[in-house]
Amino acid sequence: MMNGAGNGRGHTPDPARVEAAFAAAEVHPLLCAVAHRTGDLSLLRPDLAPDQTQLLVPGRGLGPEQEAEARALAAAAFLDHARRGPAPGEPGHDELRRVFGFLVGESATGQWETFLTEELALEGTDPRAPSWTVGDAGEGFRCAVIGAGASGLAAAYRLRQAGVEVTVYEKNAEVGGTWLENVYPGCRVDVPNQLYSFSFAQTNDWVSRFSAQPDLLAYLEGMAKELGLGECIRFSAEVTEARFDDGAGTWTLTVRRGDADEAEEGPYGAVVCAVGQLNRPSFPAIPGRERFAGPTFHSAAWDDGVELAGRRVAVIGTGASAAQFVPCIVDEVAHLDVYQRTPPWLLPTDNYGDPFPPAFHDLLELLPGYGRWDRLWQFWIMHEGLLGAARVDPEWDAHTEAVSEGNDFVRGMLIDVLRAQVDDDELFEKMVPHFPPFAKRALRDDGRWAAAMARPHTDLVTTPIESVTEEGVRTVDGVDHPADVLIYGTGFTASDFVAPMRVYGRDGVELNEEWDGDARAYLGITVPGFPNFFMLYGPNTNLVINGSILVMVECQVRYAVEAIGRLLASGKRTMSCRREVHDRYGREMEEGNARMVWGVADVPTWYRNKNGRVTQNWPFDLHTYWARTREPDLADYELA
Ligand SMILES: Cc1cc2nc3c(=O)[nH]c(=O)nc-3n(C[C@H](O)[C@H](O)[C@H](O)COP(=O)(O)OP(=O)(O)OC[C@H]3O[C@@H](n4cnc5c(N)ncnc54)[C@H](O)[C@@H]3O)c2cc1C
Repeated sequence: MMNGAGNGRGHTPDPARVEAAFAAAEVHPLLCAVAHRTGDLSLLRPDLAPDQTQLLVPGRGLGPEQEAEARALAAAAFLDHARRGPAPGEPGHDELRRVFGFLVGESATGQWETFLTEELALEGTDPRAPSWTVGDAGEGFRCAVIGAGASGLAAAYRLRQAGVEVTVYEKNAEVGGTWLENVYPGCRVDVPNQLYSFSFAQTNDWVSRFSAQPDLLAYLEGMAKELGLGECIRFSAEVTEARFDDGAGTWTLTVRRGDADEAEEGPYGAVVCAVGQLNRPSFPAIPGRERFAGPTFHSAAWDDGVELAGRRVAVIGTGASAAQFVPCIVDEVAHLDVYQRTPPWLLPTDNYGDPFPPAFHDLLELLPGYGRWDRLWQFWIMHEGLLGAARVDPEWDAHTEAVSEGNDFVRGMLIDVLRAQVDDDELFEKMVPHFPPFAKRALRDDGRWAAAMARPHTDLVTTPIESVTEEGVRTVDGVDHPADVLIYGTGFTASDFVAPMRVYGRDGVELNEEWDGDARAYLGITVPGFPNFFMLYGPNTNLVINGSILVMVECQVRYAVEAIGRLLASGKRTMSCRREVHDRYGREMEEGNARMVWGVADVPTWYRNKNGRVTQNWPFDLHTYWARTREPDLADYELA
């Protein structure tokens, strides 16, 4: 499955084929990939470089004629290289630096070079591999990983690369986590796949830019298989409790396997907790939920056995999952009621859901290395992404619907797109969010949501729900809305982090109790009093409008693995985050998030916990997180 640059030389392809294939490429990664492949750096002309102020605009500063010229140059260099046969080896460090300079701007190269080299992870390289292996110091050191979603798999792989004996506990019967459980119609990722994948497990096999759930699951299954992780995973094994033994400096887990009694397993020198943020469904506190007589289920536990065709279906929620499955079911149902608390902001994405055109696959066949440059390019245009438009401008005239000029601009643009999609004034009014863009997750959409809402047999119900009855839903105006099937698209108990698992650290302190609903962790990874316990995708590591969560997860995995390596090398047994380091970091998160729209807007969102604190989101850019997690500093820890 995993493939990469390849050299593909040895025959001269048909120029017409090259032209057609290159037409399917984005110009800037194409120039980089060809320059890298051929060694012809003259392609990287300053006048063809991306305009760094227009990264989110198609063309990135180039007009159609310049784009055509760039493609023609790339094709000529590619064909010339193929004709001449094998060329000198791939460009070295200095040449690579020049390619980066073209992509990100000369002045930024110094700051970004190492990060870009890691993200590019050219075939045959693995820049994020552990810098250590278990030697005498760590002989017999065992590590438990809890969860076999994307994060747990990445951790298991890296730990095993370092020679650590790993056992992964997974409550499900298969790997995949999010992408195993969410099988509702239309489920797909909203980050380009080249980016929503690991640098050490790249593939050119994606069928679309934003893959559907089966393809994401296949990717993770393939990765687990190819990396030989199956043998260390215990499936249908839910960890109900993790307990630290101060005397021994080790962790013991209580594991429930199917219906069998719970058993203790361990001891483990360290625990990597990769239980995810979004896999415990959340149900709204609506009276009478249990009274409903018909079939009912949550989007994360989609019941294929329930017939929807020809029935009256009620959907509660208009978040990310509902926005994906509602357009898929609307045509088959007899009537659809969609209950909306707040309308979502929709990010227009024309090709969302479309497969790549055949020419794109041909491009990857001709120029396999394009995949990695494309990944790097997606990374670059998204590392800041729309973060700028989510920052609060303290000078901005305080009103509730935007937080800065940029935010207001995006708001206007998104409303214009919506207006063009919805003729009906009444429906349009219901669909316009009265909170600033990005205060809640903005949803990628290709127009299908508005189309589904506009169908004659759909009612977008904005009157609050009073209760669920035996026959359907009653709104606070006393109207009964009959339903045969009731579907909850109401998200997850995201703020509860490790719950319902109980985690006992030093002196028997339990993590959920310590947090009291207000989860915090240094770098989202470690908590004082919980030695050698590392969280992945923990508090304040969620990304919402810039980059991919898997990039963050790779940073966390590297941090945890390097920290363990340093601990073992130090001759000590345990490391526990210093309280002052942890607390200072917590304040930084609070201040950072208070400057972001999701920290200030008066709208319900899963980004904030019951106390109103943002426990989900990382408020800065990706590079900042990478730089801070790259080299664990043992001075941040008490060693014992
Ligand atoms: C519907 C949906 C769509 C999403 N779309 C995107 C997207 O477009 N872009 C994006 O960046 N992110 C998206 N996310 C977020 C997504 O969860 C992360 O990107 C990523 O999958 C997290 O991986 P993970 O391994 O950390 O967590 P998960 O995928 O949640 O995996 C956690 C694993 O731990 C297991 N587990 C939990 N508790 C225990 C226990 N006590 N004992 C044993 N095993 C346990 C679970 O069964 C699961 O397999 C989406 C999430 C959902 C739910």
